[in-house]
Amino acid sequence: MLKNLNLLKTHGYINGQWVGDNVKSRFDVTNAYTNEVISTLPDMGKKETDEAILAANAAWPEWRSRTAKERAAILKKWFDLIMSNQEDLAMLMTAEQGKPLAEARGEVGYGASFIEWFAEEGKRTYGDVIPTPANDRRILVIKQPIGVVASITPWNFPIAMITRKCAPALAAGCPVVIKPAAETPLSALAIAELADQAGIPKGIINVIVGTNSSEIGLALTDSKIVRKLSFTGSTAVGKILTRNCADTMKKVSMELGGNAPFIVFDDADIDAAVAGAMISKFRNTGQTCVCTNRFLVQEGIYEEFVKRLADAVKTLNVGNGMDEGVNQGPLISLKALDKVKDHLSDAVDRGAVIVAGGKPHQNGGTMFEPTVVSNVDSSMKIASEETFGPLAPIFKFSTEQEAIDMANDTEFGLASYFFTNDINRIWRVSEALEYGMVGVNEGVISNEVAPFGGIKESGLGREGSHYGIDDFLELKYICMGGLK
Ligand code: ADP
Repeated sequence: MLKNLNLLKTHGYINGQWVGDNVKSRFDVTNAYTNEVISTLPDMGKKETDEAILAANAAWPEWRSRTAKERAAILKKWFDLIMSNQEDLAMLMTAEQGKPLAEARGEVGYGASFIEWFAEEGKRTYGDVIPTPANDRRILVIKQPIGVVASITPWNFPIAMITRKCAPALAAGCPVVIKPAAETPLSALAIAELADQAGIPKGIINVIVGTNSSEIGLALTDSKIVRKLSFTGSTAVGKILTRNCADTMKKVSMELGGNAPFIVFDDADIDAAVAGAMISKFRNTGQTCVCTNRFLVQEGIYEEFVKRLADAVKTLNVGNGMDEGVNQGPLISLKALDKVKDHLSDAVDRGAVIVAGGKPHQNGGTMFEPTVVSNVDSSMKIASEETFGPLAPIFKFSTEQEAIDMANDTEFGLASYFFTNDINRIWRVSEALEYGMVGVNEGVISNEVAPFGGIKESGLGREGSHYGIDDFLELKYICMGGLK
């Protein structure tokens, strides 16, 4: 039960108002574990999205005219309010998304950290004075907010994927129109309520809730007013949205799928590697875009690693994320469950051996036993497709070069991990991996100070860090001529 019932919303949020009573249909948001209806929301579409875009554009001039320091003070209040409501926000998130409460608390803190960070970074969007090529001219570069930002976000991190986009946008002086995933809109609406309480002006944050994502998506991408789209989600949808942004030449940021390798070399600290493997693979029940998809283990340590990982996996506790001691929640949908089943049966048909788990969990619903399979090879779907569930396939390799080649043999390039104690190898492999992010002897690498993002078909742009605000700023070159 929430302490602050005002955080549980039944409307969308446009121009500082809780709206949607006149929207003709509504949709249910359900508890990921019990399936009970938590709230019912207006099923918004193009009309409401267009209204939100106009409201954002109208609010923009006043917001951009404030100093970064003034904006930072308001963002800091938003951060404080999120942290003081951490427990309620975590419960809401666990209810609609399913992740264990401890992880949800962690996400609230992680999500809030972007607001604190970018409140500060907004003050440091320095320009340049460039040495002139002619004495009668001076050459300056300033950075200005890009304009109305659209942000389309997934269900796996219902708060952090929003704040990672909106905090830099707001700090830079841009208004935002957010479209959260239909599975997890309540977390988005709850933080919008806190933004309102923090004094973020009306129209600067808008939240469109609805199940017709392509209709809302098209309203955002077709709009001439929206100047930037920041998306986190699947590569397939990211490609559609990027294409749809071409006609208005919007700037895009795309945080898309991955196929993360986790390499364990013979010389690794095996305790650290198993601990890193557990958190990297099973966090959020395997449903993060940086979750390990493929374990690549050197032959000398292979048998031991398989056994140690299987033993650790058998201790995981699957159930209702609200319950004490549960560290694996349900999958987000039956479709997600089917994908895990399909990847597993395809692997088994091709010779993989199940060493832990291997079937739907006795609790039913969308739960699957945390699973480890060995004897896997590159012909299997798990080698090339993102499973997004609690299935850990362990591949074997002999040489360092073979591991690098296997790791890079994918169209994706988001996160990668490897464990070794050889300093020379650390540099060689870090530089050879074709990924936006590399964890060395680390299984979790996301934080607000580091640039998160992928290369190849994993996306465009970086979020977090001092780089993360650039995507919401335009450069303007000013040439002052005729100087005597
Ligand atoms: P996931 O597999 O994580 O659900 P999606 O890419 O399907 O990934 O969803 C991520 C976000 O994109 C969600 O908010 C979803 O509603 C939205 N989305 C899905 N399809 C479209 C689309 N055609 N246009 C705009 N947004 C979409």
